[in-house]
Amino acid sequence: MIAESVLALPGAFTAEDLHREVASRAPGIGLATVYRAIAVMQDAGTLTVVGHRENSALLAACDRSDHHHHLVCTSCASVVGVECPLGDRAVAAGGGHLVTRHEITLYGLCAACRARAGR
Ligand SMILES: [Zn+2]
Ligand SMILES: [Zn+2]
Ligand SMILES: [Zn+2]
Repeated sequence: MIAESVLALPGAFTAEDLHREVASRAPGIGLATVYRAIAVMQDAGTLTVVGHRENSALLAACDRSDHHHHLVCTSCASVVGVECPLGDRAVAAGGGHLVTRHEITLYGLCAACRARAGR
């Protein structure tokens, strides 16, 4: 049921967004239950953290397994996968650090929202 609610949400959402959607279908399901379901779906790889909004993680369904990043529309929350802008550069310029992991999220307006905003 919670997985169905995920499909009903367009683009990226927070746990609170998902809880609101779930509660509209099944009142009485608590936020803790939603968090547990999110953890299960993250373990299964069907849900990924694609960014952040204020202090909440933004989640989205993503079935890509290759290394990539996400572009999140700040207006409609649509998400698209983008290639890694760092490519194979594992050593950061400057102090000679070896970069072992990184997280990049790009935020902006999608084409549809730009057209709507006239930008
Ligand atoms: Zn993705
Ligand atoms: Zn948009
Ligand atoms: Zn990358």
